[in-house]
Amino acid sequence: MSQDDGVHCIVCGKDQFSLAHDEWMRRAFLFVEQGQLKMCAGCGAKYLVCESCGGLYCRIHPALENWELPDKCPKCGHVNKDVTAWDGTSARHF
Ligand SMILES: [Zn+2]
Ligand SMILES: [Zn+2]
Repeated sequence: MSQDDGVHCIVCGKDQFSLAHDEWMRRAFLFVEQGQLKMCAGCGAKYLVCESCGGLYCRIHPALENWELPDKCPKCGHVNKDVTAWDGTSARHF
């Protein structure tokens, strides 16, 4: 079992990531638009990058819900205000 330490993928446990770009997620989640995404080299899971330490803040996926998001970075404790402010709606309305 892998745990959410901000370094390893919580899905497959690997620690290799590359910067990713996902237009849908950028549109759907304000904190993705404001930040950066990394994609796991092992399984393709996408993560929001912590703006403070560059670690994995949380996993991002299309069915994301409020309770899945951490209140701080699991690696450095930094609080991303855009994540905290998110109201749980998976797509923004225009
Ligand atoms: Zn993975
Ligand atoms: Zn961090």
